Amino acid sequence: MKSLGHFINGKEVPGKSNKSGQVFNPATGEVQAEVAYATRDELNDAVELANIAQPKWADVNPQKRARVIMKFVELLHRDMGKLSALLSSEHGKTLPDAEGDIIRGLEVAEFCIGAPHLLKGEFTDSAGPGIDMYSMRQPLGVVAGITPFNFPAMIPMWKFCPAIVAGNAFILKPSERDPSVPMALAKLLLEAGLPEGILQVVNGDKEVVDAILDNETIQAVGFVGSTPIAEYIYTRGCTNGKRVQCFAGAKNHMLIMPDADMDQAADALVGAGYGAAGERCMAISVAVPVGEKTADKLVEKLIPKIESLKIGPYTAGDDIDFGPVVTKEAQNKILGLVDKGVEQGASLKVDGRNFKMQGYENGFFVGACLFDNVTKDMEIYKQEIFGPVLSTVRTENYEEALDLVRTNQYGNGTAIFTRDGDTARDFANKVNVGMVGVNVPIPVPLAYHTFGGWKKSAFGDLNQHGPDAFRFYTKTKTVTSRWPTGIKEGASFSIPTME
Ligand code: NAD
Repeated sequence: MKSLGHFINGKEVPGKSNKSGQVFNPATGEVQAEVAYATRDELNDAVELANIAQPKWADVNPQKRARVIMKFVELLHRDMGKLSALLSSEHGKTLPDAEGDIIRGLEVAEFCIGAPHLLKGEFTDSAGPGIDMYSMRQPLGVVAGITPFNFPAMIPMWKFCPAIVAGNAFILKPSERDPSVPMALAKLLLEAGLPEGILQVVNGDKEVVDAILDNETIQAVGFVGSTPIAEYIYTRGCTNGKRVQCFAGAKNHMLIMPDADMDQAADALVGAGYGAAGERCMAISVAVPVGEKTADKLVEKLIPKIESLKIGPYTAGDDIDFGPVVTKEAQNKILGLVDKGVEQGASLKVDGRNFKMQGYENGFFVGACLFDNVTKDMEIYKQEIFGPVLSTVRTENYEEALDLVRTNQYGNGTAIFTRDGDTARDFANKVNVGMVGVNVPIPVPLAYHTFGGWKKSAFGDLNQHGPDAFRFYTKTKTVTSRWPTGIKEGASFSIPTME
């Protein structure tokens, strides 16, 4: 069986602790690797080595640092097939979806090639007599990222590409569920010319996370994962004086107005609700049809589409719509919530609870489920299910639908399907959610914009990728300089002003 250690100073090293975890193939249910869990001491050692390597890397000019990322992009393309198969084997998502995971990360790497421009400061010539003023962006030093299982390529790349190209050293703590791709990415960066020690991958569980949060050398922590852990990391990291940003859980609603193209809306819901088995923070998990007739038409169109979804292992080819969920625990949690929905009175229109994949009976599969007549007080509405389960909450009018989204604790993504520009514009302006789609079900912004939710879906300032990533991983210094050519003002005891 494959055994994974950590990636320290350009080499994979075995773990020194006796602690490790199992990595499953979700399609077969078999253990396919054992991953070492680092101790606090191992984390601290990795940080110390990163701290030694970082100043030299920060001295490399931005264009040369960007060339490493450029080469990394080239290597990602070269290894795309291998990486996506590895990703699918530990996560369970289909091969095209795994490729999408890598490409969405690669697009941020491409954006980071523009680092020399993005890191440029500002300059004011002659701000006063003989005075020039300029600002510069400097790296923070050693920074860290703690990432979730559901995008094991994209999210680590969203974190380490901007941090590294800005001159920092980076400590990555990937999810223990699917750590192989993050390790492979670190090896590719080394091949692309990144000096040893600038990207350290330290595998593990809560012990490593706590060690990151308490380590005094680490200046900033970027986290992505569930809301309770995000709140914990934000609080502990901030208490320890770090810059922290945490992107968290979600419950994304899609409004379907009576004038929407109902076929388009139903297709969008099926893709956004069941793609990646619903294990996306931008998945649509709540359909909100406006008006009884809209709801009836929508549910009628959804049922056959959902019943004919093709579920299977990633090895079955590109024909599969979605695969298993990541672990047995995830499978049990999802099935338990579906039972709870039935118990609390929602009507289960498509019941995927008894789905069995022939030949893969031990795999963590969950069949697609569709609920109608879900209400706000039900657990299936309140909780993030993170599985192939779509809930329909019927509303009487647009105001009620908008209010439903506004009063939900999460605010990651949302969408509206309509042909009416006024309604769409009103929704985009009034909804308190970070990413909004108009006739677009999964409005994930592209690399040169920024990604982030509101309310309980994000903690801290600044978003991921785009210009915000460079703001998060750098600090600004402003220099005021005077070369006094004959100016003699004498001592001044008042605060300098431009008067
Ligand atoms: P998770 O919170 O279980 O784990 C995320 C990371 O935190 C992992 O590296 C894990 O090892 C670590 N962790 C887990 N428990 C911990 C604890 N008790 N103390 C310290 N660290 C701990 O999340 P997950 O299941 O891997 O990912 C799914 C979640 O991530 C969903 O809630 C999803 O919505 C969210 N997510 C959010 C975004 C976003 O941008 N908002 C993107 C992707 C995923």
